[in-house]
Amino acid sequence: RAKSAGGNRFELADPEADARAITRHGLTTALPAALERGEFFIEYQPLVHLGDGSVRGAEALVRWLHPQHGVLGPDRFIPLAEHTGLIVPLGRWVLEQSVRQARDWCERYGDGAPLRINVNLSPCQLTHPGLVQDTVDILERAGVTPQALCLEVTESALIGADDDLLKPLRRLAEMGVDIALDDFGTGYSNLANLRRLPVSVLKLDRSFTQSMQQFPADPVDLKIVEGIVSLAHSLDLAVTVEGVETGAQAEQLRILGCDTAQGWYYARPGPPERLHQLALVDATG
Ligand code: C2E
Ligand code: MG
Ligand code: MG
Ligand code: MG
Repeated sequence: RAKSAGGNRFELADPEADARAITRHGLTTALPAALERGEFFIEYQPLVHLGDGSVRGAEALVRWLHPQHGVLGPDRFIPLAEHTGLIVPLGRWVLEQSVRQARDWCERYGDGAPLRINVNLSPCQLTHPGLVQDTVDILERAGVTPQALCLEVTESALIGADDDLLKPLRRLAEMGVDIALDDFGTGYSNLANLRRLPVSVLKLDRSFTQSMQQFPADPVDLKIVEGIVSLAHSLDLAVTVEGVETGAQAEQLRILGCDTAQGWYYARPGPPERLHQLALVDATG
C-alpha cells in the first residue's frame, strides 16, 4: 500500500509494521484527549507482609480504556506518553487519584488502616521542576501524610544519576515519602551506589521470583537473593518482591528474609474495592 503525505510518496513493505506504526501514532495523538475525557483508570495490587500475610498497602497501576482497542496496559502507552511529555500531567493525575484512594481506605478503616500507596514515577517526572511541589500539594489537598506514600523509581532511571536528579527525591524522602527502587537487579547498578540514593525500599525484579519457581531453586540465584537481602537490611532498606505467583515462591522468599511481596498468588491488580475485601478478610481472620 502506498500513502502520500505532503507530497512525499513512500511505500511500506511490511503491512504489520505499518499497522503497528499507525496504532502507535494513533495512540500517541489520542493521549491528550483521553486524559481529558477520563479514559484512564487505576488498578490496585496489594502489597502483602511475608511474615504474617497482612495487606500493608497497594501499588497503583494505570490502564487506558480505549474506545476502540479496549483496555490497554501501561507498557502500550507509558512510553508514548513519556515521548510526548504527556507523562507529566498523566503522572500527576495518577498520583492525585491514588493518594485520594489511600485517604478513602484510611477513612474506612480508621487510624489502624495499614494501607500505604505505591505510585510509579517515570524518569521524565523526575526531571520535571514541579515534582516536589505537586506532590506536597496533592498530599495536602487529600489530607494524607507523606509517610503513606511510596514513589517507585526504576533502578535504570537512577543509574549514573547526578545530584541534580537526586535532589527532588532527597527532598521528598526528607518529608517522609518512601522512595522504592523498582525492578531492582536488572539495571547492573553498582551496589555500593545504593548508599548515595535516597531510597528506603528495594523492589526485587520479577526475574528473581521466577527463578524460585523450580524446586529446588537454582542455588546461585538463592545466594544472590540472600546477598541482596542482607545488604539491603544492613543499609536499613526494606525488600519487596514482585511477581509472586505461587505459594512455594512466597515461602522461599520469606525464608530468604524478604519483607513484602506482590503478585498474582495474592491478587491480580484490580479495582479499589478488591482491596477493601482483602484487607477486611485479613483483619477479621
Ligand atoms: P512495575 O512497576 O514493575 O509493576 C509491576 C508489573 O507486574 C505490573 O504490570 C503488574 O500487573 C505485573 N504483575 C504483578 N504481579 C504479577 C505476577 O505475579 N506475575 C506477572 N507475570 N506479572 C505481575 P503492569 O500493570 O502491566 O505495569 C507495567 C509497568 O508499567 C509497571 O511495572 C510500571 O513500570 C509501569 N506503570 C504502571 N503504572 C504506571 C504509572 O502510573 N506511571 C508510570 N510512570 N509507570 C507506570
Ligand atoms: Mg512499580
Ligand atoms: Mg516493578
Ligand atoms: Mg517489574
